[in-house]
Amino acid sequence: MATTLVTGGAGFIGSHVCERLLSRGDRVVCLDNFDPFYDRTLKARNIEGLLCNARFIPVVDDILNREALIDTIKKHGVEQILNFAARPGVSQSLTDPGAYQTINLIGATNVMDAARACGIPRVVLASSSSVYGATPRLPCHEEESPLVPLSPYAVSKLAMEVMAATYQRLYGLETVCLRFFTVYGPRQRPDMAIPLFVERILAGRPITIYGDGTSERDYTFVGDIVDGIIRAADQPPGVGRQVLNLGSSEAVSIRRLVDTLGELLGVSPRVSLQPDRPGDAPATLADISKAAACLGYHPRVRIREGLAAYLTWANVGVGGLSKATAVAA
Ligand code: NAD
Repeated sequence: MATTLVTGGAGFIGSHVCERLLSRGDRVVCLDNFDPFYDRTLKARNIEGLLCNARFIPVVDDILNREALIDTIKKHGVEQILNFAARPGVSQSLTDPGAYQTINLIGATNVMDAARACGIPRVVLASSSSVYGATPRLPCHEEESPLVPLSPYAVSKLAMEVMAATYQRLYGLETVCLRFFTVYGPRQRPDMAIPLFVERILAGRPITIYGDGTSERDYTFVGDIVDGIIRAADQPPGVGRQVLNLGSSEAVSIRRLVDTLGELLGVSPRVSLQPDRPGDAPATLADISKAAACLGYHPRVRIREGLAAYLTWANVGVGGLSKATAVAA
């Protein structure tokens, strides 16, 4: 029975990973500081169903505390580490750039250093498609160079990747940096576009779209991302340093996303177009051939099905039921 430390394990993606690891019989140490970036009660709810599992060990602590990380690893016999703890959010990083570098670079460095100090052979780290910035070449390939990040968040993730390469060279620590492309699904962070759009559609208020609605995103269902993460963690020793895209490789325009949500909710969304926001990439699309070859990663959930799963989880009904009806009434 493997013991895995999942940092940021109470968050959106981390809690799904904890759940998947437990479901196959692993022990999970879930370390999270319940950062107030968004409502902490949502994070508590993400993991409340796991608390009764004797193989689930919640730890409230901070990845900025290297000694606490080392104590946790030793105390619970951790064998591998998956690092999701971070300050997320591209646009928010423009107003508090320093916090992003502190948590996402220094915090991730502490995680790698604690792994090195405790003889853990590999750390899997959450990176982001935002490192590609405004690259004109789509789909994005891992070998793209030079990378020109557009926001402090993207810089923090790219810097984390550079640090991971340095830890591999200096200490032989295996690092797998997974570049996630806009993850969505049940338990999605409330600051992200899909929850905000749904809230506004149901309230009969206009949705704000930055740009003309044609900009495209590669939306990846959380179940597919978790599949890629677990495959990355399960690789046999010897990967050295890896950087892999995890996306769906389906380009969806913002306009199509809004229309699909409207169809599923049985409501015609009203839209307010605003100028492009600084920091946002004009388009994202993943080349996932490397993850397919290295991990056997093959995302399965297409946007309509994934959005329906999100709406079911959010209990807003597919086909214009419940809250939509209540608001209209
Ligand atoms: P999330 O905010 O839901 O999860 C992050 C968790 O980390 C939270 O529970 C938070 O409390 C915790 N945390 C923050 N600072 C911490 C600290 N100093 N010590 C311990 N815990 C801390 O975000 P998410 O969407 O699940 O993202 C998970 C990871 O994936 C992040 O690294 C994020 O940058 C990355 N990522 C997410 C997306 C996406 O679309 N959701 C896309 C690209 C990359």
